[in-house]
Amino acid sequence: MTSDELSLDRQKAECHAVSPGASRWRMVIHARVTNFGQLRRRLSRSDADGLATLLSHRINRMVMGARAVAIARDLIEIELEFSRRDMLDEAFESLVTHFDDPIGFGKESYRLNMTFGVAVGEDVCADELGLIERAEQALCRTNGQLRTVVHEVGSGAAEIDRAAMARDLDRALARGELFLHYQPKMNVRRQEITSVEALTRWNHPLCGLVPPGEFIPLAEETGAITELTLWTITQAIIDQAVLAEHGHDLRVFVNISGMMLSDSRFAADVTALLRGKAGKIGFEVTETSVIRDPESAIRHLEEFARIGVEIAIDDYGAGLSSLAYLKRLPARELKIDKLFITQLTSSNRDPLIVRSTIDLAHALEMEVVAEGVETPAALALLSVMGCDMVQGFLICRPITLRDLIRFLDSKGHAHAVGDSRATFGRLALAWQQS
Ligand code: C2E
Ligand code: CA
Ligand code: CA
Repeated sequence: MTSDELSLDRQKAECHAVSPGASRWRMVIHARVTNFGQLRRRLSRSDADGLATLLSHRINRMVMGARAVAIARDLIEIELEFSRRDMLDEAFESLVTHFDDPIGFGKESYRLNMTFGVAVGEDVCADELGLIERAEQALCRTNGQLRTVVHEVGSGAAEIDRAAMARDLDRALARGELFLHYQPKMNVRRQEITSVEALTRWNHPLCGLVPPGEFIPLAEETGAITELTLWTITQAIIDQAVLAEHGHDLRVFVNISGMMLSDSRFAADVTALLRGKAGKIGFEVTETSVIRDPESAIRHLEEFARIGVEIAIDDYGAGLSSLAYLKRLPARELKIDKLFITQLTSSNRDPLIVRSTIDLAHALEMEVVAEGVETPAALALLSVMGCDMVQGFLICRPITLRDLIRFLDSKGHAHAVGDSRATFGRLALAWQQS
C-alpha cells in the first residue's frame, strides 16, 4: 500500500465518522483533461472514449469517500465530504497528485494535463446543485490553463465573486453579451407550433454561458432587471418581426420578474415600448409575484392585456397559489410547472394533480401549457388528459432565432408527435380505465 493510500484510509475513517447533524464540509471538483485532443490521436478510439470512466474508477478506488463519475470524454465530476475542512483539503491534494503519474495503456503511458474547477462549502450553504454549478463556473474561470480555481461558497471570497459578477452584468447589456434563445410551444390537437418563449442568455467573457437561474436573481438584487427586461422585450419585438418575415408570425412570450409587476414606471415604459406591437407579444408571470402586491400587479396586468399582450401564468403549482387571485388575473394561459411533468409517467400523484389542474384551468377559460415535456409517453398522456399545449425538450430545446426559423421551416416537431402516437393508444386505455 502506498503512503497515499494510507493517508486516504485515514480519511475513510474520518469520512464515515461524520454523524448526522454534525458540521459537514463538501467539495465538488470538475477535473478536465486539457490534452485530451492530443491523447485521442494516440489512443485507440475505445481507450479515448473510456478515458474519463477509467479515471473515475481509479479515483473511486484510490480516494476513499470520493464519488467520481465521468460526465464527458474529457471531464470528471468528483464529490468529497468530510467533517473537517483540513481533511477535505488533504483529500483534494492527494487527488491532484494522483494525476501526476502517467497513465498506462498497454505498453505506452501518457501524462495527463489537468485543470480543476472546485467548489467548497460547509453545511447549508453547500447544497449539491449549487456546488455543482459553482464547480462548473470555477472550471470555466481556469480559461483552459493548467491550474485550479476554487470557489468558496458562502464565504467572503464568494461575495467578491458575486460583486464582480454584478458589475459585469451592469456592463453586459452595453457590451452585447446578452442574447435570446427561443423555445416553441406546440398545440397538441392541431400539432402546430403556436407561440415561442424567449429565454435570456448571458455569454460572459470569462465564464462562458451563465445560466439565467444565476444572473436573473442577481439582476433582481442589483436593480439591473428593469433594463434587462426592457432589452428582452425590445429584442423579442425585433425577432418577432424577423419570424413573421420568414412566414412564422408567432407570438413571442417574455418572462417578467415578479418585482417588476408592481412598478408603475416599468408598466408605463413597457406600454410605450409595445405601442402597436403588443398583439405579437405575451408575458409569462408567476402567481407568487402577483400575491406580493396584488392590487398594483393586477392593475398593470390588466393594462397590458388591454393593449393586446397575452398573459400566461408561469410555474403553476411550484410557488404560492391562491384561487382568489387566479380568478382575477387576465390570463389566457396557465403553464403547469415542469416539476409535475418530468415525472408524469412514473409518479402516482403527479397525473392526478395535472389532470385536476387542466380541469381547473378550463373551468376558468384558460388554455393549459405543460412545460418540461421530455418523453413521447408524457406527451401521449397529456394529450389524453386534454392538455392544450406542450413545451419541452421532446419538442425542441431553447435555440437561437436562426435555428428556430430552420426548425419551423422543417416542421421539426413532427418526430415528437410521431413517437408519441405509438404510446398513445396504450396510455389512453390505461388512463381512462384508472
Ligand atoms: P422558466 O420560465 O420556467 O423557463 C423554463 C426553463 O425550463 C428554461 O430554463 C428551459 O430551458 C427549461 N426547460 C425547457 N424544457 C425543458 C424540459 O423538457 N425539461 C427540463 N428539465 N427543463 C426544460 P432556463 O432557460 O435555464 O431558464 C430558467 C429560468 O430563468 C426561466 O424559467 C425563467 O424563470 C428565468 N428567465 C429566463 N429568461 C428570463 C428573462 O428574460 N427574464 C426573467 N425575469 N426571467 C428569465
Ligand atoms: Ca417561463
Ligand atoms: Ca416555467
